[in-house]
Amino acid sequence: FMLYRLQPVMRRLDTDRVNLIGLLGSVEDVMSFLDITERNEICSGDLQFKSLQRGITFESVNFSYNTSERPALQDISFFIPRGKTTAIVGPSGAGKSTVIGLICRFYETEYGEISVDNYPLRKFNLSSWRSRIAIVSQNIYIFNTTVGENIAYGRLDATKSEIIAAAKKASAHEFISQLPEGYDTIVGDRGIRLSGGQKQRIALARAIVREPEILILDEATNALDSLSENFIQEALNSFSQNRTVIVIAHRLSTIKQAEQIIVLQEGKIVEQGNLQYLLKLNGLFAKLYNLQSGSAL
Ligand code: ADP
Ligand code: MG
Repeated sequence: FMLYRLQPVMRRLDTDRVNLIGLLGSVEDVMSFLDITERNEICSGDLQFKSLQRGITFESVNFSYNTSERPALQDISFFIPRGKTTAIVGPSGAGKSTVIGLICRFYETEYGEISVDNYPLRKFNLSSWRSRIAIVSQNIYIFNTTVGENIAYGRLDATKSEIIAAAKKASAHEFISQLPEGYDTIVGDRGIRLSGGQKQRIALARAIVREPEILILDEATNALDSLSENFIQEALNSFSQNRTVIVIAHRLSTIKQAEQIIVLQEGKIVEQGNLQYLLKLNGLFAKLYNLQSGSAL
């Protein structure tokens, strides 16, 4: 099957699970396909996850990677409401991707609990949970196949019209239509080279075609110029309406739309609120924000 062509690529990337997922935007498919050995403490429950009703709660969550001295997350408590955009910001190494890893259950919390709609997350069947999440990360893999198939890697049974609809939502349809053979154009190393911004929009379409219950963007737009980023931002703004989105972004201009911003530093939540509140607070977030508006924006 199509996926077997990816096997050598993915084996090489086995090191970083969150990045690996960026391959397909699909947690479940990659995990099951690669047959990644779970740490034995990751168990799958009986509850079938269908849709988010209230949201995801972190309650005094602690987590350490067994290699490091300092816990990656310490006493983390927050609520990610359904249908809203939550941004997680903070310096590199603060623990942002670790939060994502815990939500996807690549790791098990040490202390504390993550719950979904008042059920402990671990009670849910693992694949029913993961299949409803899509991740877009910085590492986008474009395969040497058609644009259409590249998008369909997000959901292998997607129809042509679903692929096009997803591309439209990701602001990708227009540039794809201008390629020599449209959706049938071969891209990648052995085809037409796409720009960073175009690849990123393919990745977003790949995530959107999954119709995820939860969309996660982990530094997805970091490498882009502001223009490409604006494109994606526009696409996201409309897709995010009434969706549960978790966005991690370096450039703080990209998280303006977030209903809630969580500021992490050295594994702890230092500030939390909306943009207006955090700017008024005049703490770490305001400092980072003002620093950036002075230069990059
Ligand atoms: P961020 O995404 O905010 O940059 P991470 O969540 O990736 O931060 O990392 C938080 C901390 O955990 C850092 O100190 C990092 O070095 C450590 N860390 C991250 N991933 C691993 C890993 N796979 N093994 C060991 N330590 C890790
Ligand atoms: Mg990270």
